[in-house]
Amino acid sequence: MTKLQEITDRKIEAQIWDLANQGAIFYVSHSGGKDSQATYLYLSSGLHIPTSQIVVVHADLGEVEWTGVKDHIRNTILHPLNVVSAIYKDGSEKTLLNLVEKRFDTRPEAPSWPSSAARYCTSDLKRGPIEKFIRNDLKARGKTLAVNVCGIRAEESSARAKKVPFQQNDRLSIASRTVYDWYPIFDWSTDEVFQCIADYDEKPFWAYAEGNDRLSCVFCVFGSKGDIARGRKYRPELFAKYVALEEKTGYSVFAKESIIARSSQFTVTVTHREGLDTEQVQFFTEAEVRAFTREEVKWQYTDRVICEALDIDEAGDWTA
Ligand code: SF4
Repeated sequence: MTKLQEITDRKIEAQIWDLANQGAIFYVSHSGGKDSQATYLYLSSGLHIPTSQIVVVHADLGEVEWTGVKDHIRNTILHPLNVVSAIYKDGSEKTLLNLVEKRFDTRPEAPSWPSSAARYCTSDLKRGPIEKFIRNDLKARGKTLAVNVCGIRAEESSARAKKVPFQQNDRLSIASRTVYDWYPIFDWSTDEVFQCIADYDEKPFWAYAEGNDRLSCVFCVFGSKGDIARGRKYRPELFAKYVALEEKTGYSVFAKESIIARSSQFTVTVTHREGLDTEQVQFFTEAEVRAFTREEVKWQYTDRVICEALDIDEAGDWTA
């Protein structure tokens, strides 16, 4: 950390304590991801913001988020979990997939899926419902001062690095109400985030141990190949819905590739088939066509004959 960062952090911390002493409510947005988990720990156990002034909110993404995320949050917080969802004016559920369909119906000439240039998923499905909750909750408490706390980090992307870690929120602030946005772990590295969670004897959501970089949506439009491949493995029915929607709209989830291409880390090429039984031949024939991921093939067949056929060494490392 640079000297300037240290001074800035100390200044922000002094402002945060000033707000806490004035009775501000700290709304922690919790996605279930590692950054949210570390943010909550830092606020509640590191800074010791009074328990009665912390409120935890989760924007439920419905079927597109990882199963078990809400249970993970509940198991790692001491506060009740407030779950909010996005709805249309007619009261029906707003979801990522129906937003994509709607965008295709109304603007077929524009890419249907969210992107860094049109990140409507975050504003419609997370920011909007959480800000609505903050407005209503503050009113119900008769309070007029709040801090909207989020686990955004500069390291995540160049767009995020340009954000300001502490400032007034102009959408939520009016003459009779003042709300600030604060990203307490803005300068933390990924290692520091995991270390913080470990220091409090907690574990991050299980998908990180499998290698995930991000959480939230199983098939995030910014997801890495590994994350998308794991999503495909654990949520094949949801994967099929994304594939079908790509076909319907004619636009791919990712700017330069389809979700099938993004999730296919390894195209199986079986060079010799001696020793394979009928079922194995069938599997590998399909694997070649569908471009299974290395992991999918590896999980399914690990005996020596198949390892040789796929150029996996004795230790299970892939060389093909
Ligand atoms: S996780 Fe990704 S796809 Fe889902 S709402 Fe956030 S940015 Fe959009």
